Amino acid sequence: MATLEAMNIVIPIKQVPETSKVKMDPTTGVMVRQGVEAIINPLDLYAIEVGIELAASGGGRTTVISMGPPAAETAIREAIAMGCDEGGLLSGREFAGSDTWATSYALARAIATLPPCDLILCGERATDGDTGQVGPGIAAWLDLPVVTYVSGILRGGEGRLVVRRLVEDGCETLEVELPCVLTVVKEAAYPRLPTLRGKQRARAARVPVWTAADIGADVGALGLEGSPTRVVKIESPTVARHGQICTPKDPGQVEAAVEGIIAYMEKLDLL
Ligand SMILES: Cc1cc2nc3c(=O)[nH]c(=O)nc-3n(C[C@H](O)[C@H](O)[C@H](O)COP(=O)(O)OP(=O)(O)OC[C@H]3O[C@@H](n4cnc5c(N)ncnc54)[C@H](O)[C@@H]3O)c2cc1C
Repeated sequence: MATLEAMNIVIPIKQVPETSKVKMDPTTGVMVRQGVEAIINPLDLYAIEVGIELAASGGGRTTVISMGPPAAETAIREAIAMGCDEGGLLSGREFAGSDTWATSYALARAIATLPPCDLILCGERATDGDTGQVGPGIAAWLDLPVVTYVSGILRGGEGRLVVRRLVEDGCETLEVELPCVLTVVKEAAYPRLPTLRGKQRARAARVPVWTAADIGADVGALGLEGSPTRVVKIESPTVARHGQICTPKDPGQVEAAVEGIIAYMEKLDLL
């Protein structure tokens, strides 16, 4: 990680259901959230780590923000336990049902009411909504440059950062002016675990809850009313393929297992 000058860094994070336990309601097609543990979006942990490391190297500050139900305060405290300096939560009925447009508007308004920041660090995407639109959306609302899929910050100085960005067939090195928005990928950092001291600090931290009025947001641009997109149907793909697993228990059974696979493939007309 590059050593940089002091920066005010804002890290938007989202609380998501722990993906391995997610179930879809077969009748309504919506995600069953009851009884499912909520965690920090795993890809946001990399943004948190990059932010903490940058702030530590230059004497800057990290502020973590989230928009979600009151329970999302837990995610803010977990980020503080990891080492973020402070956090705040956007919560209220007016935010409910926001699509990526309204979510990024709300987060951008919150960032605009905080002390001026140099860098906004987002995760690559959220593991539930999975659009990867919110980071670039924040940049658009704040009229800031954005670099997506950032895998490393190479150097900085004079109000600029040089970053490495992953693309399909390699990587690009880009220079970007501050303030800017970066969305980071897993390769950018190794997220640390919270320490006992961090947990104590997180427990004692004051986490303000902001309403639309607090961030000067137009209520008509939030929630379902302010969302130009709607999820009209959610379907789980039916898995048409099937297979057969032959597990030989000892080397003597390998031949029989291979013959079993051949017979199975012949039956399916695959040989
Ligand atoms: C077409 C469409 C319609 C939708 N309609 C509805 C709807 O009617 N009702 C409804 O409840 N939901 C709806 N959603 C889901 C909702 O838009 C998303 O949950 C939310 O806007 C965030 O988008 P995402 O999960 O794709 O985040 P991404 O864009 O994948 O997230 C990227 C990064 O942005 C940041 N981020 C994202 N969300 C937040 C947040 N809330 N707080 C802080 N940081 C955040 C994180 O850093 C994250 O890593 C809809 C989504 C789509 C695509």
